[in-house]
Amino acid sequence: MTAPQNRQWLLKARPVGLVKRTDFEFTTAPVPEPKPGEVQVRVQYVSLDPAMRGWINEGKSYVPPVGLGEVMRAGGLGRVTASNTPAFKAGDTVVGLTGVQEYAVGAAHLWNRVDPRLAPLPRYLGALGMPGMTAYFGFLDVCQPKAGETVVVSGAAGAVGALVGQIAKLKGCRAVGIAGGAAKCAYLVQELGFDAAIDYKNENVAGALKQHCPSGVDIYFDNVGGEILDAVLARLARKARIAVCGAISQYNSSGGVTGPKNYLSLLVNRARMEGFIVFDYASRYAEGMQAMAGWLAEGKVKAREDVVAGLETFPETLLKLFRGENFGKLVLQVAEA
Ligand code: NAP
Repeated sequence: MTAPQNRQWLLKARPVGLVKRTDFEFTTAPVPEPKPGEVQVRVQYVSLDPAMRGWINEGKSYVPPVGLGEVMRAGGLGRVTASNTPAFKAGDTVVGLTGVQEYAVGAAHLWNRVDPRLAPLPRYLGALGMPGMTAYFGFLDVCQPKAGETVVVSGAAGAVGALVGQIAKLKGCRAVGIAGGAAKCAYLVQELGFDAAIDYKNENVAGALKQHCPSGVDIYFDNVGGEILDAVLARLARKARIAVCGAISQYNSSGGVTGPKNYLSLLVNRARMEGFIVFDYASRYAEGMQAMAGWLAEGKVKAREDVVAGLETFPETLLKLFRGENFGKLVLQVAEA
C-alpha cells in the first residue's frame, strides 16, 4: 500500500511584479505525522490574503519571508485527523497556519478550535477570523471613532474594508467607501448601508471626496495606499486619524513603493497617521470575536466570502486579489466540507 500523499504548493522563486504559476511548485510529500504535543489537520479552506505577496519578498518585515522550497505560508481551517495532545481530539475543527497544502501538523498552541455549527466555515477566515479582527481593532483602537465623524475606507468591498464601513455606521459615523466598479459600489450603499461609495476606476476620486465629505475626512482607513491615499490626504479635517492597514496598490511594484506627496496635510491639520499589525491584538481577540459574532447574529453586520474550489488553482486564485476580481473574503477550498 502506498503512503497517503499531501499535495502542497512550495515557493520556488521570488516573484517580480505579479506572481506567476512558475514562482511556485505544486508537488506531493508524505502526509506528516504528529509528534508528541502536535495535531494533524486535514485542511479544508485556505485563506488567501494580500499580505502573502509581501511574505514572499526577500527582506525584513513583521514576519520572516517564506524560504525558497518551503510550503507557502497561509492561514487556514481544517479538521483534526490525528491528535497527540489532550488539547484536541480527532474531528475538532481548528484554525491556524496551515500553509497551502492538504495536511498540516503543528503544536497544540498554534491551533484554535472553532464551532462549525455557529457559522459557515469560510467565515472563520473572514469576519470571524484575522480580517475581522483587523477591521475591529484597526478601526476602533487605532482610529478612535466618535459619532458624527466622517470615515473613508478604501478597499471598501473587500474582507477588511466592508467590515470597517459597517462598524463605522454602528458607531454613528458617516461611512464613505472607495472600491473598484459599479457592482461593488452599489453593494456598499444598497446592501451594507454605507452613506456613499466612490468608484475609483470610473470616477475622479478627489472630486468625489469633495462631494461626499464636505467638511473633510475625520478618519481614513487605508487599505490601498498610492494615489488614493494622496487624494484623501488632501481632504483631511483637523485632528484626522489615518490607519495604515495596507497598501495593496504598491505590493506588486517592481520599482519600489511610491510614498504620499500630500503628507504635509498631516502637519496643517494636526493629523495622525499610524500603522498597525493585527497580530499585536492577539491577547484581545476574544473581545473582538464576541463583538463581531454578536453583530453578525443580530444582522447588524453582513459578511461575504468568495470561495474558489481547487488547491491546484492557487497561483491564479491569489491573483484575483490584485486584479480586484474577488468580491468578499477570498478563500480557497481544498477539500469538501
Ligand atoms: P480584499 O480587500 O478582500 O481584497 C483586495 C482588494 O484590493 C481587491 O478586491 C481590490 O478591490 C483592491 N485592490 C487591488 N489592487 C488595487 C489597486 N491597485 N488599487 C486599489 N485597490 C486595489 O483584501 P483584504 O484581505 O481585506 O485586505 C485589505 C488590505 O488590508 C490589504 O492591504 C491587506 O494587506 C491589509 N491587511 C492588513 C492587516 C494588518 O494587520 N495591518 C491585516 C489584514 C489585511 P477593488 O475591486 O475595489 O479594486
